Amino acid sequence: KGPDPDLVAIAERMATVKHKILVLSGKGGVGKSTFSAQLSFALAEMDHQVGLLDIDICGPSIPKMLGLEGQDIHQSNLGWSPIYVESNLGVMSIGFMLPNPDDAVIWRGPRKNGLIKQFLKDVDWGEIDYLVVDAPPGTSDEHISIVQYLQATEVDGAIIVTTPQQVSLIDVRKEINFCKKVGVPVLGVVENMSGLRQAFTDLKFVKPGLAGEIDATEWAMNYIKEKAPELLSVVACSEVFDSSKGGAEKMCHEMGVPFLGKVPMDPQLCKAAEEGRSCFADQRCSASAPALKSIIDKL
Ligand code: ADP
Repeated sequence: KGPDPDLVAIAERMATVKHKILVLSGKGGVGKSTFSAQLSFALAEMDHQVGLLDIDICGPSIPKMLGLEGQDIHQSNLGWSPIYVESNLGVMSIGFMLPNPDDAVIWRGPRKNGLIKQFLKDVDWGEIDYLVVDAPPGTSDEHISIVQYLQATEVDGAIIVTTPQQVSLIDVRKEINFCKKVGVPVLGVVENMSGLRQAFTDLKFVKPGLAGEIDATEWAMNYIKEKAPELLSVVACSEVFDSSKGGAEKMCHEMGVPFLGKVPMDPQLCKAAEEGRSCFADQRCSASAPALKSIIDKL
């Protein structure tokens, strides 16, 4: 049996990409996409050539976070062309292919997998310094195959984003073990957003009018943002919700992986993400931008 033709095609395509960084999380809603987006902005602002690949089919939020909502993918004879935010920051997302973002929820494994494979094979990144891959949360079978495809191209490693709470940390342990198993180095763990969101995380509920289950966390956050944004700053300044300070750092120590730092809950970061902006030149993001920058400087 010869080598898998898909793996060969992916390796060929990735030959013009110097560094590949995976961004992972155990759970959804912990800020993985926000981190991927801001990491890409930061690398581009440092004058690197950057690609951002969003294969988080569960909730492709990258187009919005890069200010590219509603854009369509174009093809050339070299493959699918990324959509450029700046001349040195190109983006490809499953979100560009969905007429309605809710469609993603009902996709089944093989279809998702096929599209992800195609993204890895067919996107024409050109010569770039960094490819940031916003991966789906969790360690499902589907997830394993994606990482294995990528691993065929020798990824530099994975950054794992978590919140400080125990429920999230249990999943991060799984994620770290998973990386060890498939041979992806763990570049480190980022602890994002103290409090609040985790209170909702394990709830699931059905919103009338939507086809399937949606994440209650997502809904609750959006509701608060819309109806009572002042509450977000109260939560941001409060340690009350943070029941396990230092959780991720301690866990990293136990598991022998680097701890990269904490990003506080910051409504202004949320706003920048919502509006598709970089937080780094934004004075209002004074709570989160320096924290993010010091994490990125450690990579
Ligand atoms: P994930 O990719 O893990 O599902 P997202 O990056 O989509 O999570 O984040 C979920 C929501 O939380 C988004 O609305 C985002 O703007 C917000 N968010 C992420 N990090 C922070 C933070 N540090 N402070 C405030 N809001 C945040």
